[in-house]
Amino acid sequence: MPELPEVETIRRGLQRKIKNKQIKDIVVNVDKIIKKPSLEEFIAKSKDKKIKEIYRRGKYIIIHLNSEDKLIIHLGMTGLLIYPYNENSEEILEGKIKAKHNHLVFTFTDDTQLVFNDVRRFGKIFLVSNINEIETLSKLGVEPLEDYFTEEVFIQILNKKKKGKIKPFLMNQKFITGLGNIYANEVLYRSDIHPLRLIFSLNKEEVRNLYQQIKLVLSEAVELRGSTVADEAYLDTDGEKGKFTKKLQVYARKGEPCIKCGHSIEVVRIEGRSSFICPQCQKL
Ligand SMILES: [Zn+2]
Repeated sequence: MPELPEVETIRRGLQRKIKNKQIKDIVVNVDKIIKKPSLEEFIAKSKDKKIKEIYRRGKYIIIHLNSEDKLIIHLGMTGLLIYPYNENSEEILEGKIKAKHNHLVFTFTDDTQLVFNDVRRFGKIFLVSNINEIETLSKLGVEPLEDYFTEEVFIQILNKKKKGKIKPFLMNQKFITGLGNIYANEVLYRSDIHPLRLIFSLNKEEVRNLYQQIKLVLSEAVELRGSTVADEAYLDTDGEKGKFTKKLQVYARKGEPCIKCGHSIEVVRIEGRSSFICPQCQKL
């Protein structure tokens, strides 16, 4: 599932490539991806509008149109936004995307196309005038890469959930937004903290390490355009894979040696998700 670094990479790609373009036509092949408003209203209100600015909040892409409306895209598990897309793209991208999963196609007045492709169909698209109309979006927590996310702020947020376990806390978008399974695993490993540790049991130094690793890992992953792990084929708007994959130290490394101590990496299931740990470096 795309997390903050992947969504931010896509946002930057769109900002560079489709800003100021005018939507000429919209084709929706799978109606259910449009969550709000009705399909007819969605098309009527987007048609002929220009793309003004593209923002990100958590894992949501927020496209401001030159009307009061914002086009909001959540990529779900496997959503991709490819631009420019044409009939040769499937071949050029060597089968990494298949045209049969193009659920929505925007054609701009210069006849270029932006495609929303989503194999598993968990992606969601909205058109709203006020982003708070989307409940999950209105309840998102702090943005970890913003300057206001200081160590002090991190401690305040941790204190809201003292009896909670650290990994589910990191992945809960209501506290800190943008971390999913890949990056939560990475920051915990790099901080030598077991994912099931209770928040109140973390000492000052562990909290500081964790805070610093959140900033470090996410910013380096944004720099390297995200991660493309085998079973979740994230691609950027050019159809390129993320380059942070090679930097992953624990995620998807089951059975491989820990780079710190040599013990083999193990997997534990936590709330239905795979957690990769080094049992020697991350003690309960
Ligand atoms: Zn280790």
